Amino acid sequence: MTPDAQALHAAFDRQYRASREAPAADLATRRALLDSLHGLLLDGRPALAQAISDDFGGRSRSETDILEIVPLITAIRHARGHLKHWMRDEPRRVDLSLKPGSAWVRYEPLGVIGVIAPWNYPLFLTLGPALDALAAGNRVLIKPSESSPAFAALLARLVAERFNADRLTVVTGGVEVAQALSGLPLDHLVFTGSTNVGRHILRAAAEHLTPVTLELGGKSPAIVAPDYAIERAAGSIAFGRYLNAGQTCVAPDYALVPAASARRFAEGVLAAAVRRYPSIADNNDYSNVIDARHHRRLTDAIEEARRCGAEILTHPAPASTSHRIAPTVVLGAPDDCTLMREEIFGPVLPVKPYDTLDAALAFVRARPRPLALYCFADGSATQRAILDGTTSGGVTINGTLLHVGQHTLPFGGIGPSGMGAYHGRDGFRRFSHARGVHKAGPINMFERLGPPWGATARLTMR
Ligand code: NAD
Repeated sequence: MTPDAQALHAAFDRQYRASREAPAADLATRRALLDSLHGLLLDGRPALAQAISDDFGGRSRSETDILEIVPLITAIRHARGHLKHWMRDEPRRVDLSLKPGSAWVRYEPLGVIGVIAPWNYPLFLTLGPALDALAAGNRVLIKPSESSPAFAALLARLVAERFNADRLTVVTGGVEVAQALSGLPLDHLVFTGSTNVGRHILRAAAEHLTPVTLELGGKSPAIVAPDYAIERAAGSIAFGRYLNAGQTCVAPDYALVPAASARRFAEGVLAAAVRRYPSIADNNDYSNVIDARHHRRLTDAIEEARRCGAEILTHPAPASTSHRIAPTVVLGAPDDCTLMREEIFGPVLPVKPYDTLDAALAFVRARPRPLALYCFADGSATQRAILDGTTSGGVTINGTLLHVGQHTLPFGGIGPSGMGAYHGRDGFRRFSHARGVHKAGPINMFERLGPPWGATARLTMR
């Protein structure tokens, strides 16, 4: 066993023992854990943003701050403020046949929760599930991605400084550590990453019947209805697509646009990108593609679309650093090319023209159910038609990404884009065991009825 795997097993054993010896966690304990996490983020803010930028070889520190640190801080405050209410026992009605008596649901910790995270938002996707799991009173074992080594080492140190290892621990290492973690008898496993690896996770978790939350990827469409101002849609979609150089699981992956406006839309997206990122190579607001493999994957996919006759609209400024790709819009990419088949996960937006809105909805329905869907429509009837005519993990209407930052909404995928949802109260519930309790009254009618069952049977047969 490697030292990393040994450290993982030791950390798990410790948390497992603690969870069995002291399964409950009161309000004060949970609030103190959230406060520690809050302090870690406030104090570690610049160092965390720097480490993530180092892992990307250049990633906007403002984006880390605004898209990872601030949403975590507000999510912690939201959970802390509502925790007392969330933790309350929930009274339930007692059936006539079981009266007198009382019934309620207790939301109890599950035990030890594993968190396996990707590299694209390494902080938000490790501490996001962890904060919900801690609010629910659990022990948490985090495995960050091996593609964010500077961040992983820093997070491990910051967590070790503030948390008892039997409550929250970070284990570092390669894929083999993530595999070993998914094979442990955890009480729940939260995996965020690709759909393909999600299948391995589900198989590994089956061994111990470990329940899982899978936060996966996919192609999230943006549908622009004919009644919506095309330039406004172009601006919003450019914003969602090019943040973090497109390496956002919920980024609009392709846009469905009325055929008559497709060119104007494509040019509008590029113009909006140029306004937001006037330069590319030396622009601290624009992120690198994470590594050479993804850079090659993306440039190959663009070239393939070009060979297939698609028109490629590129940012005029050079993207000279080796891991940078300038914002790109692709018009007329055939449905069977890589850009229209696979999740893009980079700063490239294919524009797919449609003849009727019904045809656009049918196009979305004919494909795997996406993680997010963006609907740009003015009329509420059109908005409803788009919601009714499609399925997705979540939706933002007339904007992008916003539903993810909304602590009162569940966040998760459906079908190949994931299973289970968390954030806010939904996260608290997801990582709690809803334990049903019935307290018998002074007269226990059920016991009085029998056996012998003779009289009862005669009564119930009538
Ligand atoms: P990935 O699936 O390659 O890796 C994610 C994590 O899984 C890493 O920590 C890795 O160590 C671990 N892993 C790899 N192979 C494993 C195995 N066989 N068993 C157990 N663990 C294993 O994903 P990635 O490249 O890091 O991230 C990109 C993907 O993540 C995209 O598809 C994106 O859409 C998705 N994503 C989804 C969300 C969401 O919330 N739904 C958020 C961010 C990213």
